[in-house]
Amino acid sequence: MTAAAPTVTHLRENPFELAKQQLRSVGEAFAIDENLVAVLSQCKKAVAVSIPTRMDDGSVHVFEGYRVTHNIARGPSKGGIRYHPDVTLDEVRSLAMWMTWKCALMGIPFGGAKGGVVCDPKSMSSGELERMTRRYTSEIINEIGPERDIPAPDVGTDAQVMAWIFDTYSMNKGHSVLGVVTGKPVQIGGSLGREEATARGAHYCLREALRKLDGQRIEGTTAAIQGFGNVGSYLAKFLAEDGGTVVAVSDSSGAFHNPNGIDVAAAFAHKRDTGTLAGLGGAEPISNEDLLLLECDVLAPCGLEQVIHEENAPRVKAKIVVEGANGPTTPGADAILEDQGVLVLPDVLANAGGVVVSYFEWVQGLQEYFWKEAEVNAKLNDIMTRAFHETWNTHEERSVSMRFAAYGLAVQRVGEATTTRGLYP
Ligand code: NAD
Repeated sequence: MTAAAPTVTHLRENPFELAKQQLRSVGEAFAIDENLVAVLSQCKKAVAVSIPTRMDDGSVHVFEGYRVTHNIARGPSKGGIRYHPDVTLDEVRSLAMWMTWKCALMGIPFGGAKGGVVCDPKSMSSGELERMTRRYTSEIINEIGPERDIPAPDVGTDAQVMAWIFDTYSMNKGHSVLGVVTGKPVQIGGSLGREEATARGAHYCLREALRKLDGQRIEGTTAAIQGFGNVGSYLAKFLAEDGGTVVAVSDSSGAFHNPNGIDVAAAFAHKRDTGTLAGLGGAEPISNEDLLLLECDVLAPCGLEQVIHEENAPRVKAKIVVEGANGPTTPGADAILEDQGVLVLPDVLANAGGVVVSYFEWVQGLQEYFWKEAEVNAKLNDIMTRAFHETWNTHEERSVSMRFAAYGLAVQRVGEATTTRGLYP
Protein backbone atom coordinates (compact mmCIF):
# COMPACT_ATOMS: atom_id res chain seq x y z
CA MET A 1 0.00 0.00 0.00
CA THR A 2 1.39 3.40 -0.87
CA ALA A 3 1.01 6.56 1.16
CA ALA A 4 -1.88 8.73 -0.03
CA ALA A 5 -0.97 11.80 -2.09
CA PRO A 6 -3.34 14.48 -3.40
CA THR A 7 -4.18 14.34 -7.10
CA VAL A 8 -5.54 16.94 -9.51
CA THR A 9 -9.32 17.20 -9.44
CA HIS A 10 -11.75 17.94 -12.30
CA LEU A 11 -14.05 19.90 -10.00
CA ARG A 12 -14.48 23.68 -10.12
CA GLU A 13 -13.17 23.98 -6.56
CA ASN A 14 -11.25 21.54 -4.39
CA PRO A 15 -14.05 19.75 -2.50
CA PHE A 16 -11.92 18.94 0.54
CA GLU A 17 -10.94 22.61 0.92
CA LEU A 18 -14.65 23.48 0.68
CA ALA A 19 -15.55 20.87 3.31
CA LYS A 20 -12.87 22.23 5.66
CA GLN A 21 -14.08 25.80 5.05
CA GLN A 22 -17.64 24.73 5.89
CA LEU A 23 -16.37 23.15 9.11
CA ARG A 24 -14.47 26.31 10.12
CA SER A 25 -17.55 28.49 9.48
CA VAL A 26 -19.75 26.14 11.51
CA GLY A 27 -17.12 26.09 14.28
CA GLU A 28 -17.28 29.89 14.50
CA ALA A 29 -21.08 30.08 14.34
CA PHE A 30 -21.55 27.43 17.04
CA ALA A 31 -18.55 28.51 19.17
CA ILE A 32 -16.88 25.09 18.86
CA ASP A 33 -13.41 24.79 20.43
CA GLU A 34 -10.66 25.61 17.91
CA ASN A 35 -8.59 22.56 18.88
CA LEU A 36 -11.56 20.35 18.16
CA VAL A 37 -12.11 22.02 14.78
CA ALA A 38 -8.42 21.43 14.01
CA VAL A 39 -8.76 17.71 14.83
CA LEU A 40 -11.97 17.34 12.81
CA SER A 41 -10.48 19.19 9.80
CA GLN A 42 -8.26 16.20 9.01
CA CYS A 43 -9.07 12.65 8.00
CA LYS A 44 -7.91 9.98 10.44
CA LYS A 45 -6.57 7.76 7.69
CA ALA A 46 -6.28 7.82 3.90
CA VAL A 47 -4.84 4.96 1.88
CA ALA A 48 -4.14 4.84 -1.83
CA VAL A 49 -3.79 1.46 -3.52
CA SER A 50 -2.90 0.27 -6.97
CA ILE A 51 -5.25 -2.31 -8.46
CA PRO A 52 -3.69 -4.34 -11.30
CA THR A 53 -6.54 -5.93 -13.21
CA ARG A 54 -6.59 -8.41 -16.09
CA MET A 55 -8.75 -6.93 -18.86
CA ASP A 56 -10.77 -9.03 -21.30
CA ASP A 57 -8.23 -8.48 -24.13
CA GLY A 58 -5.46 -10.03 -21.99
CA SER A 59 -3.78 -6.72 -21.07
CA VAL A 60 -3.29 -5.59 -17.46
CA HIS A 61 -4.65 -2.20 -16.43
CA VAL A 62 -3.47 -0.70 -13.14
CA PHE A 63 -6.34 1.23 -11.57
CA GLU A 64 -5.89 3.64 -8.65
CA GLY A 65 -8.14 3.35 -5.60
CA TYR A 66 -8.63 5.05 -2.24
CA ARG A 67 -10.23 4.37 1.11
CA VAL A 68 -10.45 7.22 3.59
CA THR A 69 -11.68 7.24 7.19
CA HIS A 70 -12.48 10.71 8.47
CA ASN A 71 -13.52 10.02 12.06
CA ILE A 72 -14.46 7.13 14.38
CA ALA A 73 -15.36 8.95 17.61
CA ARG A 74 -19.00 7.76 17.47
CA GLY A 75 -18.44 4.27 16.05
CA PRO A 76 -16.91 2.39 13.12
CA SER A 77 -16.61 4.41 9.95
CA LYS A 78 -19.18 4.07 7.20
CA GLY A 79 -19.33 5.32 3.62
CA GLY A 80 -19.83 4.42 0.00
CA ILE A 81 -17.43 3.39 -2.73
CA ARG A 82 -17.46 5.42 -5.95
CA TYR A 83 -16.39 4.13 -9.36
CA HIS A 84 -15.94 7.13 -11.66
CA PRO A 85 -13.22 8.42 -14.04
CA ASP A 86 -12.94 11.72 -12.14
CA VAL A 87 -12.49 10.34 -8.62
CA THR A 88 -9.73 12.16 -6.71
CA LEU A 89 -8.33 11.64 -3.24
CA ASP A 90 -9.56 15.06 -2.11
CA GLU A 91 -13.04 14.29 -3.39
CA VAL A 92 -13.02 11.06 -1.36
CA ARG A 93 -11.74 12.95 1.70
CA SER A 94 -14.55 15.52 1.47
CA LEU A 95 -17.15 12.78 1.03
CA ALA A 96 -15.72 10.96 4.08
CA MET A 97 -16.01 14.13 6.19
CA TRP A 98 -19.62 14.69 5.08
CA MET A 99 -20.38 11.08 6.08
CA THR A 100 -19.21 11.84 9.63
CA TRP A 101 -21.64 14.76 9.85
CA LYS A 102 -24.45 12.77 8.24
CA CYS A 103 -24.20 9.84 10.67
CA ALA A 104 -24.03 12.20 13.65
CA LEU A 105 -27.03 14.20 12.45
CA MET A 106 -29.03 10.98 12.09
CA GLY A 107 -27.91 9.82 15.54
CA ILE A 108 -26.56 6.50 14.25
CA PRO A 109 -23.38 5.03 15.80
CA PHE A 110 -20.95 5.50 12.92
CA GLY A 111 -18.13 7.78 11.87
CA GLY A 112 -17.48 8.78 8.28
CA ALA A 113 -15.53 7.09 5.48
CA LYS A 114 -15.53 6.91 1.70
CA GLY A 115 -13.75 5.02 -1.06
CA GLY A 116 -13.25 5.37 -4.76
CA VAL A 117 -11.59 3.85 -7.78
CA VAL A 118 -10.59 5.91 -10.81
CA CYS A 119 -12.30 3.94 -13.58
CA ASP A 120 -15.14 4.14 -16.07
CA PRO A 121 -17.47 1.32 -15.04
CA LYS A 122 -19.73 1.92 -18.05
CA SER A 123 -16.93 0.94 -20.42
CA MET A 124 -15.93 -2.21 -18.47
CA SER A 125 -17.34 -5.72 -18.80
CA SER A 126 -18.86 -7.47 -15.80
CA GLY A 127 -15.80 -9.71 -15.59
CA GLU A 128 -13.40 -6.74 -15.57
CA LEU A 129 -15.47 -5.00 -12.88
CA GLU A 130 -15.50 -8.15 -10.75
CA ARG A 131 -11.73 -8.70 -11.01
CA MET A 132 -11.03 -5.02 -10.24
CA THR A 133 -13.44 -5.03 -7.29
CA ARG A 134 -11.99 -8.22 -5.79
CA ARG A 135 -8.41 -6.89 -6.07
CA TYR A 136 -9.43 -3.50 -4.61
CA THR A 137 -11.11 -5.35 -1.72
CA SER A 138 -7.94 -7.41 -1.12
CA GLU A 139 -5.85 -4.23 -1.08
CA ILE A 140 -8.04 -2.59 1.57
CA ILE A 141 -8.90 -5.79 3.47
CA ASN A 142 -7.12 -4.65 6.63
CA GLU A 143 -8.94 -1.32 6.58
CA ILE A 144 -12.53 -2.62 6.38
CA GLY A 145 -14.60 -4.90 8.63
CA PRO A 146 -17.88 -4.86 10.59
CA GLU A 147 -16.30 -3.19 13.63
CA ARG A 148 -13.85 -1.08 11.67
CA ASP A 149 -15.11 0.44 8.41
CA ILE A 150 -18.18 -0.63 6.43
CA PRO A 151 -18.46 0.27 2.72
CA ALA A 152 -21.71 0.75 0.76
CA PRO A 153 -22.72 1.67 -2.82
CA ASP A 154 -22.23 5.13 -4.30
CA VAL A 155 -21.97 6.52 -7.84
CA GLY A 156 -21.03 3.74 -10.26
CA THR A 157 -21.35 0.89 -7.75
CA ASP A 158 -24.38 -1.25 -6.91
CA ALA A 159 -25.57 -4.32 -5.01
CA GLN A 160 -23.56 -6.64 -7.29
CA VAL A 161 -20.32 -4.79 -6.49
CA MET A 162 -21.17 -5.04 -2.77
CA ALA A 163 -21.74 -8.80 -3.23
CA TRP A 164 -18.20 -9.19 -4.67
CA ILE A 165 -16.70 -7.19 -1.78
CA PHE A 166 -18.66 -9.30 0.74
CA ASP A 167 -17.55 -12.53 -0.94
CA THR A 168 -13.88 -11.54 -1.26
CA TYR A 169 -13.71 -10.44 2.38
CA SER A 170 -15.55 -13.56 3.58
CA MET A 171 -13.33 -15.92 1.52
CA ASN A 172 -10.27 -14.39 3.16
CA LYS A 173 -11.77 -14.71 6.67
CA GLY A 174 -12.99 -18.26 6.09
CA HIS A 175 -16.64 -17.57 6.91
CA SER A 176 -19.44 -15.24 5.76
CA VAL A 177 -19.11 -11.81 7.36
CA LEU A 178 -22.49 -10.15 6.76
CA GLY A 179 -21.59 -6.89 8.51
CA VAL A 180 -18.59 -6.02 6.33
CA VAL A 181 -20.58 -4.18 3.69
CA THR A 182 -24.11 -2.82 3.23
CA GLY A 183 -26.25 -2.40 0.14
CA LYS A 184 -25.86 -6.15 -0.53
CA PRO A 185 -28.46 -8.04 -2.61
CA VAL A 186 -31.35 -9.16 -0.38
CA GLN A 187 -30.69 -12.86 -1.08
CA ILE A 188 -27.24 -12.66 0.58
CA GLY A 189 -28.08 -10.55 3.63
CA GLY A 190 -29.11 -7.19 2.21
CA SER A 191 -31.94 -5.26 3.83
CA LEU A 192 -35.34 -4.88 2.29
CA GLY A 193 -35.81 -1.22 1.41
CA ARG A 194 -32.07 -0.39 1.13
CA GLU A 195 -32.09 0.18 -2.62
CA GLU A 196 -34.81 2.85 -2.40
CA ALA A 197 -33.74 4.19 1.02
CA THR A 198 -31.80 7.31 -0.01
CA ALA A 199 -34.64 8.55 -2.20
CA ARG A 200 -37.26 7.55 0.36
CA GLY A 201 -35.43 9.58 3.02
CA ALA A 202 -35.24 12.60 0.66
CA HIS A 203 -38.96 12.20 0.01
CA TYR A 204 -39.77 12.17 3.76
CA CYS A 205 -37.55 15.20 4.24
CA LEU A 206 -39.28 17.15 1.45
CA ARG A 207 -42.69 16.15 2.84
CA GLU A 208 -41.78 17.65 6.23
CA ALA A 209 -40.33 20.82 4.64
CA LEU A 210 -43.50 21.37 2.61
CA ARG A 211 -45.62 20.96 5.75
CA LYS A 212 -43.53 23.68 7.41
CA LEU A 213 -44.15 25.97 4.42
CA ASP A 214 -47.83 26.78 5.04
CA GLY A 215 -48.91 23.16 5.18
CA GLN A 216 -48.12 22.39 1.54
CA ARG A 217 -48.13 18.82 0.22
CA ILE A 218 -46.22 16.84 -2.39
CA GLU A 219 -49.47 16.50 -4.33
CA GLY A 220 -49.47 19.31 -6.91
CA THR A 221 -45.77 20.12 -6.42
CA THR A 222 -43.58 20.34 -9.53
CA ALA A 223 -40.04 18.93 -9.44
CA ALA A 224 -36.98 18.78 -11.72
CA ILE A 225 -34.60 15.92 -10.98
CA GLN A 226 -30.99 15.94 -12.13
CA GLY A 227 -29.41 12.47 -12.27
CA PHE A 228 -31.57 9.40 -12.92
CA GLY A 229 -29.47 6.86 -11.05
CA ASN A 230 -30.28 5.13 -7.78
CA VAL A 231 -31.23 8.28 -5.87
CA GLY A 232 -32.82 10.38 -8.63
CA SER A 233 -34.88 7.65 -10.27
CA TYR A 234 -36.49 6.45 -7.02
CA LEU A 235 -37.08 10.03 -5.87
CA ALA A 236 -38.89 10.73 -9.16
CA LYS A 237 -40.95 7.57 -8.63
CA PHE A 238 -41.95 8.44 -5.05
CA LEU A 239 -42.83 12.04 -5.95
CA ALA A 240 -44.97 10.91 -8.89
CA GLU A 241 -46.69 8.24 -6.75
CA ASP A 242 -47.55 10.92 -4.19
CA GLY A 243 -49.23 13.17 -6.79
CA GLY A 244 -46.24 15.40 -7.57
CA THR A 245 -45.43 16.35 -11.18
CA VAL A 246 -41.88 15.52 -12.29
CA VAL A 247 -41.33 18.10 -15.04
CA ALA A 248 -37.76 17.07 -15.96
CA VAL A 249 -35.23 14.28 -15.52
CA SER A 250 -31.66 13.87 -16.71
CA ASP A 251 -28.63 11.66 -16.74
CA SER A 252 -25.14 12.09 -18.14
CA SER A 253 -26.57 11.62 -21.69
CA GLY A 254 -28.84 14.70 -21.43
CA ALA A 255 -32.06 16.11 -19.94
CA PHE A 256 -35.75 15.79 -20.83
CA HIS A 257 -38.52 18.26 -20.05
CA ASN A 258 -42.31 18.06 -20.12
CA PRO A 259 -44.12 20.81 -18.17
CA ASN A 260 -47.19 18.53 -17.92
CA GLY A 261 -45.17 15.77 -16.32
CA ILE A 262 -42.69 13.11 -17.39
CA ASP A 263 -44.10 9.57 -17.43
CA VAL A 264 -41.75 8.40 -14.65
CA ALA A 265 -42.65 4.71 -14.96
CA ALA A 266 -41.82 4.87 -18.71
CA ALA A 267 -38.52 6.67 -17.95
CA PHE A 268 -37.69 3.97 -15.39
CA ALA A 269 -38.36 1.20 -17.91
CA HIS A 270 -36.43 3.03 -20.67
CA LYS A 271 -33.38 3.48 -18.40
CA ARG A 272 -33.53 -0.16 -17.27
CA ASP A 273 -33.83 -1.49 -20.83
CA THR A 274 -31.28 0.78 -22.56
CA GLY A 275 -29.01 1.87 -19.69
CA THR A 276 -29.57 5.54 -20.59
CA LEU A 277 -32.31 8.18 -20.79
CA ALA A 278 -31.19 9.05 -24.36
CA GLY A 279 -34.13 8.62 -26.75
CA LEU A 280 -36.81 8.99 -24.03
CA GLY A 281 -40.17 9.77 -25.64
CA GLY A 282 -42.92 12.15 -24.48
CA ALA A 283 -40.53 14.93 -23.48
CA GLU A 284 -38.39 17.65 -25.09
CA PRO A 285 -34.62 17.20 -24.93
CA ILE A 286 -33.00 20.14 -23.09
CA SER A 287 -29.48 20.67 -21.79
CA ASN A 288 -28.41 19.48 -18.34
CA GLU A 289 -27.72 23.09 -17.40
CA ASP A 290 -31.23 24.22 -18.46
CA LEU A 291 -32.81 21.58 -16.21
CA LEU A 292 -31.28 23.30 -13.18
CA LEU A 293 -32.86 26.62 -14.19
CA LEU A 294 -36.42 25.43 -14.88
CA GLU A 295 -39.51 27.05 -13.43
CA CYS A 296 -40.61 24.54 -10.76
CA ASP A 297 -41.20 24.19 -7.02
CA VAL A 298 -38.46 21.67 -6.27
CA LEU A 299 -35.03 21.11 -7.78
CA ALA A 300 -33.35 17.85 -6.76
CA PRO A 301 -29.70 17.54 -7.84
CA CYS A 302 -29.04 13.79 -7.60
CA GLY A 303 -25.86 13.43 -9.73
CA LEU A 304 -22.46 14.74 -8.72
CA GLU A 305 -20.90 17.63 -6.77
CA GLN A 306 -20.78 21.35 -7.55
CA VAL A 307 -23.47 21.49 -10.23
CA ILE A 308 -25.04 24.57 -8.61
CA HIS A 309 -22.34 27.23 -8.48
CA GLU A 310 -22.00 31.00 -8.32
CA GLU A 311 -22.63 31.41 -12.06
CA ASN A 312 -25.93 29.55 -12.33
CA ALA A 313 -27.29 29.97 -8.76
CA PRO A 314 -28.78 33.46 -9.45
CA ARG A 315 -30.90 31.87 -12.22
CA VAL A 316 -32.26 28.94 -10.17
CA LYS A 317 -36.04 29.43 -9.98
CA ALA A 318 -37.02 26.52 -7.73
CA LYS A 319 -38.23 27.38 -4.23
CA ILE A 320 -36.74 24.30 -2.59
CA VAL A 321 -33.48 22.49 -3.42
CA VAL A 322 -33.34 18.89 -2.19
CA GLU A 323 -29.73 17.70 -2.24
CA GLY A 324 -30.03 14.05 -3.24
CA ALA A 325 -26.36 14.17 -4.25
CA ASN A 326 -23.47 14.91 -1.91
CA GLY A 327 -22.05 18.43 -2.24
CA PRO A 328 -24.07 19.57 -5.30
CA THR A 329 -24.09 23.22 -4.15
CA THR A 330 -20.88 25.21 -3.71
CA PRO A 331 -20.66 27.51 -0.64
CA GLY A 332 -20.75 30.54 -2.98
CA ALA A 333 -23.97 29.27 -4.56
CA ASP A 334 -25.36 28.48 -1.11
CA ALA A 335 -25.09 32.14 -0.09
CA ILE A 336 -26.79 33.27 -3.32
CA LEU A 337 -29.67 30.80 -2.90
CA GLU A 338 -30.15 31.91 0.70
CA ASP A 339 -30.34 35.56 -0.40
CA GLN A 340 -32.95 34.55 -2.98
CA GLY A 341 -35.03 32.87 -0.26
CA VAL A 342 -34.53 29.36 -1.66
CA LEU A 343 -34.85 26.67 1.03
CA VAL A 344 -31.92 24.24 0.65
CA LEU A 345 -32.39 20.84 2.29
CA PRO A 346 -28.72 19.94 2.69
CA ASP A 347 -27.12 16.67 1.63
CA VAL A 348 -26.25 15.51 5.16
CA LEU A 349 -29.97 15.60 5.92
CA ALA A 350 -31.74 15.04 2.60
CA ASN A 351 -29.76 12.03 1.35
CA ALA A 352 -29.12 10.38 4.74
CA GLY A 353 -31.81 7.73 4.22
CA GLY A 354 -29.25 5.47 2.54
CA VAL A 355 -26.89 5.34 5.48
CA VAL A 356 -29.77 4.97 7.93
CA VAL A 357 -31.00 1.82 6.19
CA SER A 358 -27.37 0.72 5.80
CA TYR A 359 -27.24 0.94 9.60
CA PHE A 360 -30.37 -1.24 9.75
CA GLU A 361 -28.73 -3.72 7.35
CA TRP A 362 -25.60 -3.85 9.50
CA VAL A 363 -27.68 -4.45 12.66
CA GLN A 364 -29.74 -7.16 10.91
CA GLY A 365 -26.53 -8.80 9.62
CA LEU A 366 -24.90 -8.83 13.07
CA GLN A 367 -28.05 -10.35 14.59
CA GLU A 368 -28.78 -12.57 11.58
CA TYR A 369 -32.43 -11.57 12.06
CA PHE A 370 -34.14 -9.77 9.20
CA TRP A 371 -36.99 -7.26 9.29
CA LYS A 372 -40.06 -6.75 7.12
CA GLU A 373 -39.88 -3.89 4.58
CA ALA A 374 -42.68 -1.97 6.32
CA GLU A 375 -40.67 -2.10 9.56
CA VAL A 376 -37.56 -0.76 7.78
CA ASN A 377 -39.52 2.11 6.19
CA ALA A 378 -41.30 3.01 9.43
CA LYS A 379 -38.00 3.15 11.36
CA LEU A 380 -36.45 5.22 8.53
CA ASN A 381 -39.40 7.60 8.68
CA ASP A 382 -38.94 8.04 12.46
CA ILE A 383 -35.24 8.85 12.15
CA MET A 384 -35.57 11.16 9.12
CA THR A 385 -38.51 13.04 10.61
CA ARG A 386 -36.75 13.52 13.95
CA ALA A 387 -33.55 14.72 12.24
CA PHE A 388 -35.53 17.08 10.02
CA HIS A 389 -37.30 18.69 12.99
CA GLU A 390 -34.10 18.97 15.06
CA THR A 391 -32.47 20.72 12.10
CA TRP A 392 -35.50 22.93 11.42
CA ASN A 393 -35.69 24.00 15.08
CA THR A 394 -31.99 24.90 15.13
CA HIS A 395 -32.43 26.76 11.81
CA GLU A 396 -35.21 28.86 13.36
CA GLU A 397 -33.73 29.33 16.84
CA ARG A 398 -30.32 30.44 15.54
CA SER A 399 -31.51 32.10 12.30
CA VAL A 400 -29.04 30.04 10.26
CA SER A 401 -29.52 28.11 7.02
CA MET A 402 -30.66 24.49 7.17
CA ARG A 403 -27.14 23.51 6.12
CA PHE A 404 -25.52 25.40 8.96
CA ALA A 405 -28.10 24.04 11.39
CA ALA A 406 -27.45 20.44 10.24
CA TYR A 407 -23.66 20.80 10.31
CA GLY A 408 -23.80 22.62 13.65
CA LEU A 409 -25.79 19.84 15.30
CA ALA A 410 -23.59 17.16 13.76
CA VAL A 411 -20.23 18.77 14.58
CA GLN A 412 -21.38 19.39 18.17
CA ARG A 413 -22.29 15.70 18.53
CA VAL A 414 -18.97 14.49 17.11
CA GLY A 415 -17.20 17.07 19.28
CA GLU A 416 -18.93 15.82 22.43
CA ALA A 417 -17.97 12.22 21.63
CA THR A 418 -14.36 13.22 20.94
CA THR A 419 -14.07 15.25 24.14
CA THR A 420 -15.76 12.58 26.27
CA ARG A 421 -13.45 9.87 24.95
CA GLY A 422 -10.44 12.15 25.47
CA LEU A 423 -7.27 12.49 23.44
CA TYR A 424 -5.22 9.27 23.27
CA PRO A 425 -2.69 8.72 24.84
P1 NAD B 1 -25.73 6.44 -9.69
O1 NAD B 1 -24.45 6.11 -10.32
O2 NAD B 1 -26.75 5.38 -9.49
O3 NAD B 1 -26.45 7.62 -10.51
C1 NAD B 1 -25.86 8.85 -10.79
C2 NAD B 1 -26.66 9.46 -11.94
O4 NAD B 1 -26.29 10.82 -12.13
C3 NAD B 1 -26.43 8.75 -13.28
O5 NAD B 1 -27.68 8.57 -13.91
C4 NAD B 1 -25.57 9.75 -14.07
O6 NAD B 1 -25.76 9.64 -15.46
C5 NAD B 1 -26.13 11.06 -13.53
N1 NAD B 1 -25.28 12.23 -13.69
C6 NAD B 1 -23.99 12.41 -13.35
N2 NAD B 1 -23.60 13.66 -13.64
C7 NAD B 1 -24.68 14.28 -14.17
C8 NAD B 1 -24.90 15.59 -14.71
N3 NAD B 1 -23.97 16.53 -14.70
N4 NAD B 1 -26.13 15.88 -15.18
C9 NAD B 1 -27.11 14.95 -15.17
N5 NAD B 1 -26.95 13.71 -14.69
C10 NAD B 1 -25.74 13.39 -14.20
O7 NAD B 1 -25.38 7.16 -8.31
P2 NAD B 1 -26.28 7.32 -7.01
O8 NAD B 1 -25.97 6.21 -6.10
O9 NAD B 1 -27.68 7.62 -7.41
O10 NAD B 1 -25.61 8.63 -6.37
C11 NAD B 1 -25.95 9.93 -6.83
C12 NAD B 1 -25.53 10.94 -5.78
O11 NAD B 1 -26.19 10.64 -4.55
C13 NAD B 1 -24.03 10.98 -5.45
O12 NAD B 1 -23.68 12.29 -5.11
C14 NAD B 1 -23.94 10.10 -4.22
O13 NAD B 1 -22.80 10.39 -3.44
C15 NAD B 1 -25.22 10.49 -3.53
N6 NAD B 1 -25.70 9.51 -2.56
C16 NAD B 1 -25.98 8.23 -2.93
C17 NAD B 1 -26.46 7.34 -1.98
C18 NAD B 1 -26.85 5.92 -2.34
O14 NAD B 1 -27.41 5.24 -1.47
N7 NAD B 1 -26.66 5.46 -3.55
C19 NAD B 1 -26.61 7.74 -0.66
C20 NAD B 1 -26.34 9.06 -0.32
C21 NAD B 1 -25.89 9.93 -1.28
